[in-house]
Amino acid sequence: MSAITAGEKGNVMTVNGPVEPGALGRVLMHEHLHCDIFDWGAKKLLSEEKPITAERRAYLMTAAVPYLKPCNEHDCFGFLEVTPAPWRAWPTFYAEAAKAANMHIVLCTGFYRDVEQGTYWVKRPEDSIWPFVREAPVDQLADFCIREITEGVHGTEVRAGAIKLGSSQPEMTEPEKKALRAGARAQKATGVHITTHCTRIGAETAQLELFDKEGVDLSRVAIGHTAPHLMNPESRKTCLEWMKRGANFLPTNMSINEGNGDRWRPLVEAIHDVFDAGYGDHIAGFGLDWAFSSESGPFGPCIGQPPPFLHMYTHTLPAFRKMGLTPEEEEQIMAKSPQRILPVR
Ligand SMILES: [Zn+2]
Repeated sequence: MSAITAGEKGNVMTVNGPVEPGALGRVLMHEHLHCDIFDWGAKKLLSEEKPITAERRAYLMTAAVPYLKPCNEHDCFGFLEVTPAPWRAWPTFYAEAAKAANMHIVLCTGFYRDVEQGTYWVKRPEDSIWPFVREAPVDQLADFCIREITEGVHGTEVRAGAIKLGSSQPEMTEPEKKALRAGARAQKATGVHITTHCTRIGAETAQLELFDKEGVDLSRVAIGHTAPHLMNPESRKTCLEWMKRGANFLPTNMSINEGNGDRWRPLVEAIHDVFDAGYGDHIAGFGLDWAFSSESGPFGPCIGQPPPFLHMYTHTLPAFRKMGLTPEEEEQIMAKSPQRILPVR
């Protein structure tokens, strides 16, 4: 099995090859250009990635990609596609989209969580997690991730540059534990960072304890969807304890609706608190979790408020500035932290 070369260390592994971190400017750290999970017509979990159809390509080139290039006007040249296998677009599509949008796109390998029965698409136990994750031993799952990072995805030259993992509850399921152990081993073998799905308060500790036990340097981990964890004063203390040990936290889903802006005031206050404590550089970045997805119905725009992706610069950051987010905090979160975390170490 091939490995990361010395020349690649210190650079960000994008879909079009290694790039020096400064070229990224600001980065959107948790987005989904393509997350096709479930075939709602056939009522079937998608478990295999296939070359993109002309129809799907044309749709994304019209509905999604045009919103990336204007991000350049806000010094944003980096985009982390956090969709795990097997729900990504075909890898060469990302290479094409990156060129069309003048955006450095980083693709993830890795595995999604065990989704709770009765939520999203999960009506049958067998649809809660990718069968490969349920069935394969840890070593095989780790090898899958390592190959996608060091050799390429689906026989293409497009390589993954990060590892996406996740768990649903503070207590992980057995397949989730296997997936996280495999991802931890792939992290240590390759040096790319781990980004997670962690919506529940308490799940951050389960995830970080597992990574720590596996010997992962916690500064190579961004615990995702953690705006609630930071906004809650009690769980913020837990986050700060983990930050002291190196871990990073990534708030997401900060869409701004008419009149909901105030909802985020406690997050801006929490960010001040983390910076005052001296751990501002452990906020890994911001993400909208904007998605073109089929998680709740046929494939289409999902989760975020318009415009896709660009909303960070047209709505979220302007609202946060009004609430008192300082230029130093913004620069750390949008540029410095991502440029530290994304390169292969
Ligand atoms: Zn997401």
